[in-house]
Amino acid sequence: MTLDDLMYRPGLLQGQRILVTGGGTGLGRVMAEAFLMLGAEVHLCGRRGCVVEQTAQELMQQHGGLAVGHACDVRQPDAIEHMLDGIWSRHGALTGLVNNAAGNFVSRTEDLSMRGFDAIANIVMRGSFNMVLDCGRRWLAEGRRASVLSILTTWVWNGSAFTVPSAMAKSGVHAMTQSLAVEWGNRGIRFNAIAPGLFPTEGMSARLNPQGGEHVRKDNPMGRNGRMPELANLAVFLMSAQAEYLTGQTIAIDGGQYQATGGNFAALSSWTDQDWAHARDAIESRNAADRQLRTT
Ligand code: NAP
Repeated sequence: MTLDDLMYRPGLLQGQRILVTGGGTGLGRVMAEAFLMLGAEVHLCGRRGCVVEQTAQELMQQHGGLAVGHACDVRQPDAIEHMLDGIWSRHGALTGLVNNAAGNFVSRTEDLSMRGFDAIANIVMRGSFNMVLDCGRRWLAEGRRASVLSILTTWVWNGSAFTVPSAMAKSGVHAMTQSLAVEWGNRGIRFNAIAPGLFPTEGMSARLNPQGGEHVRKDNPMGRNGRMPELANLAVFLMSAQAEYLTGQTIAIDGGQYQATGGNFAALSSWTDQDWAHARDAIESRNAADRQLRTT
């Protein structure tokens, strides 16, 4: 990404210090890159310490500034406290938090184990709340203004067959966004969310399109997937101090997909038992490979 991809003046986010959960890969990395390019100090966390550290190094080499990677599992409040203590003492208070970390995989709901349900719900719903609670208590105690952005899905409005734990958990974070925008609004803390359509990433393809092949929604009204700078520009807008009056909103960026087609996984109703067995094998082998790299 270059500054020409962004619609803002250089230095727009100067003085901001923003933590992006799951910032080592995919959409989190793209948003962190845009924040860094516009002058923010960025912190990235994920379970694979090597991934966040490498991303931080690459972003600094490309754009200068300060990017720091932290191995931290958002499901663990103690690990979050340790990470935030370190950021506050070594760098200073965060001014923004992006709840982007998530897990998801396609499955018939009757095939899910409770462990499978928890794997998703604990990252998305509890993980986002864990982050918000620890950051929020610090901001409230210090009387700081701050902004929280959560990355959701359009399924918060219409549900999603075959990704039910994700639909339930993302809906919880949507409710948190609306609720805390009111509860903490008079103390200067804003809450907004983005519901992206299809922005192909390696992580998303591995578990949501395990059959492989091109993952383009041909039924998208615009006939294409999202482009990363489009998402980055919206994230910067929502995190900028100039958007301070905007709070409690979840904004879709999906080329009209959700209004046209529901934007979810309803089409998997046509999969056979064999399709589901193949999908499960592909997801399990990807999970095993990722576990090898985790440091938390
Ligand atoms: P991704 O690359 O797989 O990103 C997920 C990130 O979350 C990874 O960096 C992962 O790193 C991190 N993560 C997972 N569990 C974690 C945990 N317990 N603690 C800390 N970090 C954790 O996928 P993506 O497509 O960029 O997705 C990013 C966000 O966008 C997600 O919230 C997703 O639901 C949302 N979204 C994406 C799309 C799309 O089309 N791409 C569409 C709608 C919504 P580790 O494995 O190292 O922990």
